Amino acid sequence: MRLVLLGPPGAGKGTLAQVLSKDWNVVHVSTGDMLREALKNRTPLGLKAKAFMENGKLVPDEIVIGLVSERLLKKDAERGFILDGFPRTVEQAKELDKEIKKLKMPITTVLYFKTSLPVIIRRLSGRRVCQNCGKNYHVTNFPPKAQGVCDACGGKLIQRPDDKEETIEERLKVYEKETSPLVDYYKKEKLLQEVPGDLDVQELGTHLNEIFKKKGLLDR
Ligand code: AMP
Repeated sequence: MRLVLLGPPGAGKGTLAQVLSKDWNVVHVSTGDMLREALKNRTPLGLKAKAFMENGKLVPDEIVIGLVSERLLKKDAERGFILDGFPRTVEQAKELDKEIKKLKMPITTVLYFKTSLPVIIRRLSGRRVCQNCGKNYHVTNFPPKAQGVCDACGGKLIQRPDDKEETIEERLKVYEKETSPLVDYYKKEKLLQEVPGDLDVQELGTHLNEIFKKKGLLDR
């Protein structure tokens, strides 16, 4: 199974990818997580990406394309992958097409999370992440057992700097301008599968398993 998750920030792509990658034993490739990790470790790449990320802008194409190409070459990606947050521009999608052609690993389907604005705002403003391991929570939808503390590693939960109100607005604008053209791009390639992004992750998981079974995609 080789999936691309497409949709605005707050659509639930990361949460679903965490669940599906475990269920199907495929790798979860999140460019946002990779960039945050690089930033945490203060690598040259992380430092280059910092200002773009903090201001809700896209990191330049060549940086993220390089990261993803390298990741897809690793042995574990042969089992399948879920791309979460990549591609985000038409340029990135074209480069991805070239890469997967070289690797002979065609995309099975692109899930497009159709999500309403109030749901996006509620999810992003209530999101908390573990400073240590990066696990995601939500103040009401998915709270930790102890307030402010990660269930998995005991790390401190914080609000991502780019989940503050002003930056959310910028990220949504960038999504409309740069990323939403990918809906048509993948429609033309006959890969687009629309899914209801307003559903919570359990409901969506069930919905998807039904779609995939019907289309015979589960063992591809
Ligand atoms: P995310 O965790 O997917 O919301 O990504 C957080 C931030 O990382 C974005 O707002 C961008 O600044 C950067 N980023 C993640 N993926 C990409 C991408 N494919 N292209 C450009 N920038 C990205």
